[in-house]
Amino acid sequence: MKRRDLLKAALALPALRIPRTADLTRSAPPSGSAPPASVGPARRAAVQAGEAAPTSADFVVVGSGAGGGTVAARLVEAGYSVIVLEAGGDPPSVPYDVPAFHPFATEHEAMRWDFFVHHYGDPAKERNDPKYLTDKGGVWYPRAGTLGGCTAHNALIFVYPSNNDWNHLADLTGDSSWRAEKMRAYFERLEDCRHRRVARFRHKLGVNPSRHGFDGWLPVEKAAPAEAIRDGKVRRLFAASIRNAVKEVGLPSPARLESLGDPNDWRVISENEFGACYTPMTTRNYQRVGARERLLDVRRRYPDRLTIELNALATRVIFDDQKRAVGVEYLKGERLYQAHATPSELPGEPRQVRARREVILAGGVFNTPQLLMLSGIGPESELRRHMIPPVVVLDRVGRNLQDRYEVAVVNRMEHPWDMLRGATFTESDSQYEEWKSNRRGIYTTNGVPLCVIARSTAGQPSPDLFCYALLTDFRGYKPGYSEVVRERPNYLTWVVLKGHTNNTGGTVTLSSRDPRVRPVINFNYFEDGTDAAGDDLTAVVKGVSLVRRMTAGLQQTLGLVEEMPGADYPTEASLRDFVRAHAWGHHASCSCPIGPRDRGGVLSGDFKVYGVEGLRVVDASVFPRVPGLFIASAVYMIGEKAAEVIAAAQQVAGGRGRGAEAEAGGRGGRY
Ligand SMILES: Cc1cc2nc3c(=O)[nH]c(=O)nc-3n(C[C@H](O)[C@H](O)[C@H](O)COP(=O)(O)OP(=O)(O)OC[C@H]3O[C@@H](n4cnc5c(N)ncnc54)[C@H](O)[C@@H]3O)c2cc1C
Repeated sequence: MKRRDLLKAALALPALRIPRTADLTRSAPPSGSAPPASVGPARRAAVQAGEAAPTSADFVVVGSGAGGGTVAARLVEAGYSVIVLEAGGDPPSVPYDVPAFHPFATEHEAMRWDFFVHHYGDPAKERNDPKYLTDKGGVWYPRAGTLGGCTAHNALIFVYPSNNDWNHLADLTGDSSWRAEKMRAYFERLEDCRHRRVARFRHKLGVNPSRHGFDGWLPVEKAAPAEAIRDGKVRRLFAASIRNAVKEVGLPSPARLESLGDPNDWRVISENEFGACYTPMTTRNYQRVGARERLLDVRRRYPDRLTIELNALATRVIFDDQKRAVGVEYLKGERLYQAHATPSELPGEPRQVRARREVILAGGVFNTPQLLMLSGIGPESELRRHMIPPVVVLDRVGRNLQDRYEVAVVNRMEHPWDMLRGATFTESDSQYEEWKSNRRGIYTTNGVPLCVIARSTAGQPSPDLFCYALLTDFRGYKPGYSEVVRERPNYLTWVVLKGHTNNTGGTVTLSSRDPRVRPVINFNYFEDGTDAAGDDLTAVVKGVSLVRRMTAGLQQTLGLVEEMPGADYPTEASLRDFVRAHAWGHHASCSCPIGPRDRGGVLSGDFKVYGVEGLRVVDASVFPRVPGLFIASAVYMIGEKAAEVIAAAQQVAGGRGRGAEAEAGGRGGRY
């Protein structure tokens, strides 16, 4: 069978059943040595203890997150051999699996990578933020250094980007395969939509105006299944919010009515529609699914083609004399990156793997530019400052960093939510038992039952505000924030998220040439950045006013008192200072953007790093502009696109050259 046919066959695969933990345990390879200390017993099967060090494969992928995991899995299905180097270990099943436990996952020692970032260049401005940590010199920015990357701890929210995002990429690259109409096919390929039963049935009959995917590898469910919402107060919140959203943004169009509150319906996306929605989340039977499950499933099916090398910190890309990426150097050992919650002091064992075809970097928005610079690709000044021999000078590696702005409107209620009574968010309460045994109850949700999508001003080309309700007190990421979830069952937070931000002024620079040391990250918020007109700040303020109006009617019914921003910030003028001080983000992206090289691009439209051969980037760094309102869907989609582009390029090359070994019967050439 030809590779092209294999790829087609792989893409046509029916919904894949991801093994639950028990299945994984049964299929565990015999292991001679113990798993890493941070790994709970339920996860042993995923760790390749006792396996020999991998040496070479068609592709070496650095990072197993939304981008790396997706591209690696699809390349394996297309018949290639792949080694995934992942710096972290395998996450423990609790809190990983349980949707309601995602805040605890972000703070879990086994998988936590702590970055401390700057929002401003001026320390005095930074100190206005209560989240600023003087001893760390920055604001905490959680990442997951583990199998699955940030899909291992994220809030599971799965919201489609706007069509403008893709069309912008098509215009920038002159490549029509980026057009929104075509990009939707990747979403259909990866999604297994489980929250639109009628649409699913119609799809079986060959009618699919929703353009959801129903046979993909990523199951998507509703964040608030009806049985979880037995709480009268929550139902009142829903009713009032939907009523208020209608007042604010108008009656839903026929498309939105037909989509029944689904923000990912193609008709809603195409019409740039907005209003109140439920939140789709990436779970199967209310258990987390992400890049980890995708990789493990593929490894189970193709054990001879996919190697997942855990606890492997990539330190440098190896180039040959023609500037072709031929492999990766890495350090083998647990917790070697200093961002780890409990970093190791051991040196790690230096190793190398060879890539017969290409190296793909997917270490995420902070680590991919770091690794490029460590490998001699980046701004000249950075390379010179750290005495790194240049391979190619690319000025915008680590520049163009972007994020959303988010702020919280936190309301205290007179009484706790009924459904949170007795919830300890541990394995020892009845709610956990209900989740575990029956997949029912409040732990089946990620705590984001409702969102309102709106435009901050009528002139916005796409909806740019995503306001989501949380049934707890959440004021942004600060160490210990997850404990507050346990302690405060009588809070309602509306988070205002400003998408499509204008600020492209963030930077990732090296603080050392030591690959174990975190880079310096500065987002250059608001006036420090590139949004000269101040539209971002105005939009966030408008968002706060919007959610204030939406909760106004609930003050009586739920006994709400606004604690934050609170009475000190009554007007939009005063809110500007509040937003400057309190804003945060958690969708960092764009630090190695696609675009023409003479306009600051780092990557061509086919994910290739300019100036070298055999090296691509496939993660959240690749976007020229931060896409949509939530980013994981877009990263999964580019992972699918990249696999197709890479496999097609291999077809054109005809398997000659560096792939010859595979074609002649190596691990990748058996088909
Ligand atoms: C707290 C939080 C909640 C979020 N919630 C949502 C949400 O609900 N919905 C949504 O759409 N988005 C959410 N996101 C964002 C989203 O999950 C990420 O943007 C997305 O996972 C990024 O994918 P990626 O492939 O770029 O990187 P990641 O998923 O971060 O993966 C990168 C991987 O590379 C590994 N790595 C890094 N450097 C090296 C190295 N040198 N060697 C080997 N391995 C390396 C890391 O360990 C990691 O596993 C959230 C993010 C955070 C932080």
